[in-house]
Parts: sequence; structure tokens; C-alpha cells
Amino acid sequence: MTDLRHVTYCGLYCGLCLNGCRIPRRAAELRDLLGKVHIEEWGPNLPGYEGFRGFLDELARFEPRASCREQSCGVETCAIRTCAKEKKVDACPFCADYPCERIRTLAKRYVMLIGDGERMCAVGLDAWIREQEVRKARGFAYVDVRYDTTP
Ligand code: SF4
Ligand code: SF4
Repeated sequence: MTDLRHVTYCGLYCGLCLNGCRIPRRAAELRDLLGKVHIEEWGPNLPGYEGFRGFLDELARFEPRASCREQSCGVETCAIRTCAKEKKVDACPFCADYPCERIRTLAKRYVMLIGDGERMCAVGLDAWIREQEVRKARGFAYVDVRYDTTP
């Protein structure tokens, strides 16, 4: 059975959110770099060291939360989510009205949204999720191609 936890109704992939992909990797890189210069020897002399080390470890381990599908992320009142649930589609790309006005509006911000949605329909959800994991492994994040600067 397809694991939809990280697929949002509108057709985004949570693993490509900046929080979920790049920040944990960068945190792990910084932790490793600090290990190479033996931070444990000189770091404790700096204020905030213990808290910083703990926070860095947490960031490096961070996994994206389940998507807005379980309402642990995203806008509580999202009309797209409500509509997709009412239409009983796994995700909007499978809706007969895709891409509707709501999706077209969101796509002004997420410029790959509709192309990715069409791809989701073309290859099916399982293959699409695997493709997003490949993107994630390559370090891609939506913020790279968004027109604003918020993650
Ligand atoms: S809350 Fe709505 S817009 Fe945000 S990711 Fe979920 S479905 Fe998409
Ligand atoms: S009409 Fe279809 S594509 Fe638009 S929000 Fe509702 S389910 Fe998604």
C-alpha cells in the first residue's frame, strides 16, 4: 500500500521542504566538521556550548513531520485539503478538475507544482514518491525554485 504520509493533497512532497531535506544534512555536516577540529576540547570554553551541541544533534536527526494529511503541518483551514477530502482523491492531480483555480494560484508560488502533478498521474504515486526521494538525495528543495524567500 502506498505510503502517503509525505505527500500533500495539493501535490507537494514533504521531503523537499527545506526543513526536511537540507537543514538536517547541513546540520550533520557542521557536526562532522566540528568533530574533525575536536570541538569537544575547546568548545566547552565557549558560552552556550552544551545547548548548541544538543540542538545540532537534534537538527541533524530531524525528520519532516507527517504532511498536512494528518493535520500536523500546513494551514488548518486549507481549502485544498478540505476539497480533496470531499472529492475522495489521494491527491489533487487525480481530481477531474485538476488543475483548478486553487491549484493554479498555489502554483504561482510552487512553480513545479502542476508539472509534478501531471507526472504523478503519469507514473503513479509509488514511482512518483521514489522520484521525489531521488530529488531529496540530490539536495533539491522547493525553495530553490520559489519566487519568494520563505522556506
Ligand atoms: S495545507 Fe493545503 S496548501 Fe498546504 S501542503 Fe497541505 S494541501 Fe497543500
Ligand atoms: S477541485 Fe480538485 S484539484 Fe482543486 S482543490 Fe479540489 S480536489 Fe484539488
